[in-house]
Amino acid sequence: MIRPKKSLGQNFLTDDNILNKILSLVEVKNRNIIEIGPGTGNLTKKILEKRPKNLLLIEKDQLLADNLQEKLSSFRNVKIFNEDILKFNLEKIIEKNSIIIGNLPYNISSQILIKLIKFQKWPPKYNKLILMFQKEVADKILAQHKTSDYGRLTIITSSRLKVTNHFNVLPNSFYPVPKVKSTVLVLKPIINKNFNVKKIENLELISHIFFSQKRKMINKGFKKIFKNYLEAQKKLNINLNLRPSDLTQNEFFKITHYFEKNS
Ligand code: SAH
Repeated sequence: MIRPKKSLGQNFLTDDNILNKILSLVEVKNRNIIEIGPGTGNLTKKILEKRPKNLLLIEKDQLLADNLQEKLSSFRNVKIFNEDILKFNLEKIIEKNSIIIGNLPYNISSQILIKLIKFQKWPPKYNKLILMFQKEVADKILAQHKTSDYGRLTIITSSRLKVTNHFNVLPNSFYPVPKVKSTVLVLKPIINKNFNVKKIENLELISHIFFSQKRKMINKGFKKIFKNYLEAQKKLNINLNLRPSDLTQNEFFKITHYFEKNS
């Protein structure tokens, strides 16, 4: 009997309808699939039924990784990495046209998403992400500006990914039952024409500076970022009395672009 570890965000998806619904969102046959946090293999089994070309599994829990190794030893197209996804160099080993699936450990789900967004090469070698988040986090990814969910995660995600589909999942679809609701997001990499930032790290920096003072007017952030903040304000033509959440993603891209050229 496997005892779920809270520290590793282990809530295993046991609802067959939801498992099928997730798999219905993706063409698996003959594709390269990567699963993050396969756990006891509920989703993994369904993926294998659909005959992928290759399946890479990345599971941090050694006990679970060993169990999967044993259970799946007859599949020649499955490779299991007993690794921490946050330390693992996925970009190095990923094959072209891969699909990444995962019912993510919620304590690190935004970090995992950011890691996938920060791939060096863009467009990346994956062409679809199907990821389960805690609903609160998914709401931040999906948010519009001028709402309280809008923030760093919305801005950074929209610079390189587009959400093409999403649906909610109730706590009783999991064992153990989590305290929170969940949301599956389907995301596709995009080339955003309005995103002319050279280093995505700079977008992280700028959005961090503004959203760490979420309720303050943006003149505070401007003063921190730019030596000559009035000049920056003029060039960017942005009203400094607004709050960070009043600005659209494109405005944050513009500010970051200006920062790259003038600092
Ligand atoms: N996909 C499974 C399990 C989801 S629970 C299912 O739906 O049933 C999240 C899984 O991620 C667990 O198996 C947990 O051990 C694994 N995990 C947690 N942190 C991880 C990390 N840093 N790297 C890789 N896997 C991790």
